[in-house]
Amino acid sequence: MPITETDLLHLRRCVELAREGLDDGDEPFGSVLVDGDGVVRFEDRNRVKDGDETRHPEFEIAKWSADHLTPEERAAATVYTSGEHCPMCSAAHGWMGLGRIVYAVSSAQLVGWLTEWGAGPAPVRPLPIQEVAPGVPVDGPAPELEDEMRALHRRLFESRQP
Ligand SMILES: [Zn+2]
Repeated sequence: MPITETDLLHLRRCVELAREGLDDGDEPFGSVLVDGDGVVRFEDRNRVKDGDETRHPEFEIAKWSADHLTPEERAAATVYTSGEHCPMCSAAHGWMGLGRIVYAVSSAQLVGWLTEWGAGPAPVRPLPIQEVAPGVPVDGPAPELEDEMRALHRRLFESRQP
């Protein structure tokens, strides 16, 4: 289904969270869980700077949903995220039976930028969500947010150059 104005509103919050993460020394990724009634129930952003590289917001959302949502609520929820889920987070989302995912930029876009800038490959293959969790409806990218997300990732890349 197409990305709506409401979707964009939630995606903009994800970008804000991504910026907050980057400003705090983490990586620019942010995510929001919205329930079937359209209410924001949980949000988080990347928190890997202290050494736990699995602290992705999409993974936190999946774990949060285990304790706070029924299976029916999980299926009706939408997870918005600044960057497409990595395979770890796609798997967690799929195992928890969460609903639709909407992302601002795809993993393919991010890999394209990193390759263009000369960054090395990530330790985990950037599979599309639906290769990991084929039953999940997925929408994205949102071209309106591409420049902003590219700039945040560029800042992270430059901060890591010697
Ligand atoms: Zn992830």
